[in-house]
Amino acid sequence: MDDCLFCKINKGEIPAKKVYDGDEVFAIEDINPQAPTHLLIIPKKHHATLLDLTKEDHAMIGSIPTIANDLARERGLDQSGYRLVVNCGAGAGQSVFHIHFHLLGGRPLQWPPG
Ligand code: 5GP
Ligand code: ZN
Repeated sequence: MDDCLFCKINKGEIPAKKVYDGDEVFAIEDINPQAPTHLLIIPKKHHATLLDLTKEDHAMIGSIPTIANDLARERGLDQSGYRLVVNCGAGAGQSVFHIHFHLLGGRPLQWPPG
């Protein structure tokens, strides 16, 4: 998608601090972190929201929790705990319409979120 922020970051057209780069998924540091660790794990294929996924995406999406585990372990969050969350739709707080998983940790996290 030509006008999509995360597609542009994936293509290197907009800078970001990349912390993981795989065949189908990459991860960056969030520009406005809400916790000491706040990463975005992003499929390279453009889908606006989780609702756009199909069966073709099962393997790629299924890889994300283990990618998150690796990133969390590198930061010691396997000991303190971390949260992996997706906002699906504007009503749930989604502001960038290219699927991304937030990985948050490094401070106590409250539940339920606001
Ligand atoms: P959402 O609100 O869609 O669930 O999350 C979008 C996230 O993208 C927000 O946490 C926001 O801080 C982050 N974000 C927005 N613009 C940029 C950017 O240009 N670079 C990076 N690294 N993160 C961004
Ligand atoms: Zn996109």
